[in-house]
Amino acid sequence: MQLAPYAAQQSSSRGRRFAEESPQYRSDYQRDRDRIIHSSAFRRLEYKTQVFVNHEGDMFRTRLTHSIEVAQLSRSIARILELNEDLSETIALAHDLGHTPFGHAGQDALNACMKDYGGFEHNLQSLRTVDKLEQSYADFIGLNLTFESREGILKHCSIKNARQLGDVGERFLNKKQASLEAQTVNLADEIAYNNHDVDDGLRSGLIDIEQLLEIRLFKEQFDVVSKQYPDLKDRRRIHEIIRRMINRQVVDLIDTTRTNLGKALPDSIDSVRNHTSELAHFSPEMQEMNLQLKRFLRTQMYAHYRVHRMSAKAAHIIQQLFNAFLNDPKLLNPKYQQIVSQKEQKNAELGKARAVADYIAGMTDRYAIAEYEKIFNPAELT
Ligand code: MG
Repeated sequence: MQLAPYAAQQSSSRGRRFAEESPQYRSDYQRDRDRIIHSSAFRRLEYKTQVFVNHEGDMFRTRLTHSIEVAQLSRSIARILELNEDLSETIALAHDLGHTPFGHAGQDALNACMKDYGGFEHNLQSLRTVDKLEQSYADFIGLNLTFESREGILKHCSIKNARQLGDVGERFLNKKQASLEAQTVNLADEIAYNNHDVDDGLRSGLIDIEQLLEIRLFKEQFDVVSKQYPDLKDRRRIHEIIRRMINRQVVDLIDTTRTNLGKALPDSIDSVRNHTSELAHFSPEMQEMNLQLKRFLRTQMYAHYRVHRMSAKAAHIIQQLFNAFLNDPKLLNPKYQQIVSQKEQKNAELGKARAVADYIAGMTDRYAIAEYEKIFNPAELT
């Protein structure tokens, strides 16, 4: 792997919280990736959704397939920019580990439940998952990932939370940047979800091609495909358009970032971190086009009444479960009762609420629905 001077290098890594010897045949970033793939939070991504609820259909994206798409895009970008591909892959696979069941609706509902207890933020929860909640190793709690992986997972964070996070929180207090691997994964995430939401939106019938012709990013590639394949229909036509949209965005990101790097000439990961602003960017034209697409998805798809019905139901399930467990922790599985009572000893209500939030955030869509049934449906056997 050819690495640019500004890439993350194992030799200049800020290391792990608990010192470990490097693996024999893998890099430390490969080890991080492998620990994520073998974690239980990663497996649960299969049954968590972004826009659609898991049982709505087998054809839609889940958090797992989304994370794999982000990893694929991130690795391509990293290879061309001579960044550390292993680190990019690690960050991409871990970036959504802290997501609640039921996508955005679940996150908003849990955040509202946690209003008086420090709030809930999925990004911070992804870090919490790898730092604390995964417990499989004898010598440490969490996955004991390298600083660079943890830095990348923590995409954003409030100043209040940053103060409590130690090393990974510092950049938010000092207005510094994350590595280029982290910056490019963040944008790859955006490319992935904007495009697959168009695809899933069309597939589900929530949006149609007529509407999308108003969107420049779509229209440009629609025209290219229509000219080249005038008779192409349905799924194949949509796929040909979307793959071109993705490619257009990835190429724009690579070209713009390369130009920025040519001007800034960072000679190490620290000079990337110390730069006044992020170096990975879309061109202003692409930013504008992305914004138009995002606005469209927000108003036409995420706010569609069918999505809203599911979101309202999801919010109800999360609220009810949260209140029930907080008011009566004995309803919890005994393993979690123990965690709740351990937390209670330190800081009564706060600790209890956080333990309940951790439990709910870790649920898959179907598990949350099943728990709800078991607790609130008198006909359901527990
Ligand atoms: Mg994501």
